[in-house]
Amino acid sequence: MRVLVISDIHANLAAFETVLADAKGQWDFVWCLGDVVGYGPDPNECCDLLKTLPHLCIAGNHDWAALGRLDIRTFNVDARRAVDWTQKTLTDENTAYLSALPTTFVLGNYTLAHGSPREPIWEYILDPLIAALNFPHFETDYCFVGHTHSPVTYRLINDEGKTEAEAPKYRVHQPLNGQRLIINPGSIGQPRDSNPDAAYGILYVEEAIFEYRRIPYPIQMTQEKMRNHDMPDRLVKRLEHGW
Ligand code: ZN
Repeated sequence: MRVLVISDIHANLAAFETVLADAKGQWDFVWCLGDVVGYGPDPNECCDLLKTLPHLCIAGNHDWAALGRLDIRTFNVDARRAVDWTQKTLTDENTAYLSALPTTFVLGNYTLAHGSPREPIWEYILDPLIAALNFPHFETDYCFVGHTHSPVTYRLINDEGKTEAEAPKYRVHQPLNGQRLIINPGSIGQPRDSNPDAAYGILYVEEAIFEYRRIPYPIQMTQEKMRNHDMPDRLVKRLEHGW
């Protein structure tokens, strides 16, 4: 089975549609690692499109924020404005869809979590040290996470927990080789690694091969919608910078 691995769509329909077009015919199932909504102008459109695909989705912090499940005082002021707008805009049907999402999922040799296996909703795996602390918290060889919006692979090197980070090589089939790995495919709708292109991956499940991908999308389409909804300028601008 070939899986389209996506995360952090963040209500960015132009980016989501571009990824689906780029990957057309190359996958059988979708694993979505959460944050379908939040920040972007198309929360209902992105939920509706995802629901048409054969998929499994887990919950992210922005999905929970849109449900009013989180205390958003820890969000910055721009993120809070986007959360309020998203809450008001989501249909009852899509609110119900998001509220039914699980926080983790295990499929064969793969664990899925939005933030980390230890703290699925909240924790950011930002460096090898945090990754090292998370390896004891899942039993499969491989774990997919999102949340940081930066594609990276963390590899457990030895029994003492030594872990290294590896930058993605794009459009290359990377054998996972039965090592213990935490893999982040990056973000579709709001990349933060100084590359504005939408990020995603293709996983060949039985072969345990992963391929990182990037694809440019019409950023200005999303920005225009955000401006029309009077969304914070900082959130509009960051899309073209990729941070
Ligand atoms: Zn996110």
